[in-house]
Amino acid sequence: IKRNKVRDLLKSTEFGKEVIVMGWVKTFRNNQFIALNDGSTLSNLQVVVDFENTSGDILKKITTGAAVKAIGTLVESVGKGQTVEVKANTVEILGESDAEKYPLQPKKHSLEFLREKAHLRFRTTTFNAVFKVRHALAFAIHKFFNERGFTYLHTPIITASDAEGAGEMFRVTTLELGNPPRDEQGNINFKEDFFGRSTNLTVSGQLEGELGAMALGEIYTFGPTFRAENSNTTRHLAEFWMIEPEVAFADLEDNMDLAEDMLKYVIKYALDNCAEEIEFLNTRLLDEEKNKAQKDRSELSLIEKLNFCLDNDFERITYTEAIEILKRSKPNQKKQFNYLIDEWGADLQSEHERYLVEKHFKKPVILTNYPAEIKSFYMRQDDNCAEGKQTVSAMDILFPGIGEIVGGSQREERLERLEARMDEIGIPKDELYWYLDTRRFGTAPHAGFGLGFERLVVFVTGMTNIRDVIPFPRYPKNAEF
Ligand code: ATP
Ligand code: MG
Ligand code: MG
Ligand code: MG
Repeated sequence: IKRNKVRDLLKSTEFGKEVIVMGWVKTFRNNQFIALNDGSTLSNLQVVVDFENTSGDILKKITTGAAVKAIGTLVESVGKGQTVEVKANTVEILGESDAEKYPLQPKKHSLEFLREKAHLRFRTTTFNAVFKVRHALAFAIHKFFNERGFTYLHTPIITASDAEGAGEMFRVTTLELGNPPRDEQGNINFKEDFFGRSTNLTVSGQLEGELGAMALGEIYTFGPTFRAENSNTTRHLAEFWMIEPEVAFADLEDNMDLAEDMLKYVIKYALDNCAEEIEFLNTRLLDEEKNKAQKDRSELSLIEKLNFCLDNDFERITYTEAIEILKRSKPNQKKQFNYLIDEWGADLQSEHERYLVEKHFKKPVILTNYPAEIKSFYMRQDDNCAEGKQTVSAMDILFPGIGEIVGGSQREERLERLEARMDEIGIPKDELYWYLDTRRFGTAPHAGFGLGFERLVVFVTGMTNIRDVIPFPRYPKNAEF
């Protein structure tokens, strides 16, 4: 179908040109002015209807939400806030929309309301902006790794490895199509023996990714990840996307450098390529904060926050140093924590992470050398330990507003140390023979991390709930479509 996109027309100076535009009506004023959006840009195109030569029947059907086609001429606009408009000779209704029933009114809806209308929220400017930024970030991630010579390795979504211990998993079962067998109560009999063993949806592609890195040198995964997080937080989803680079011949230092470089690269890419979207979200966010009159509102605007992140080195401190800071935090600040950290060995909650980032250092923080007890079995055991307890070469990157955004480590490449740790916590070595073979044959230092894609999108868009940055959010009691 021949048509002109709104994005192109708004930049055009070819006045007098005959154009065809199609889009959805945002508003229709004075029986004359359509604000038309076709999704190609956040801005609307003004279409001026020749109402004297348009039938009343059509005028009635130009309602918010309706899809229309307009044919006319591109002219310079005299109106404020726009440079061009289309003077339409004919308007055709492609799809009607009953204004009474259409859930999206021409006003700003709350994000809570829009989450309930998740199937229609794509049509709002806010979600157009969010998903355009999401797209740009995904593209930038591939661009970054491609420029550095990494291989994009697809790790499986259905896996048998369940030793990672990253969270609750979703089991994979099969079901006969048509008329599946049922038990006496009428419940469907699901089967789990398709693969001859029990399988689950992946919670992380890391272990498989290590196989790739220990052969191809530098790989990354970027795919859907599943965790049956049975909690309702603003930073957990049951289905999310994770980026997991893995690099051979690398240590923790290299790993931190890679993660910091990547985050800065993709944030800069979004700032450079999504200026309109980020500007819009920035304004929407400021409005929201004004409405809520949040006491604790961040002093920086979204754009300032993003630039600040680019211009400063991330603070790198050890877990042990972080605990000292949290212990010293003034009593009135401590009160805001649900529980106090006064013991070395405790895992940090998001409130502790955000305190370190937002109140103490006021910039992104990389925390390293965590107690082995609270980290996964594959992390490299440190030779020098704090407090006489075993620590590991782990790193978590903490961002304002969200807390942990990256979790990574140098991996334990020494077979005996790795096996001893697996024995200690009861991970079956025979099931992970394939993993241990990387250590048996040509082991070498290597490191990697996992970046939660949606947490990155939360940061760059300034949205506050992770459910608002993924097109089809999955969380407890929510998988409607
Ligand atoms: P958290 O402590 O926030 O639960 P985690 O330590 O369990 O995260 P990791 O196993 O380290 O998470 O996973 C790597 C990254 O994946 C995290 O740093 C985070 O950015 C992201 N992530 C983890 N779980 C989720 C989830 N349920 N929804 C969205 N992103 C997630
Ligand atoms: Mg978790
Ligand atoms: Mg964590
Ligand atoms: Mg983690």
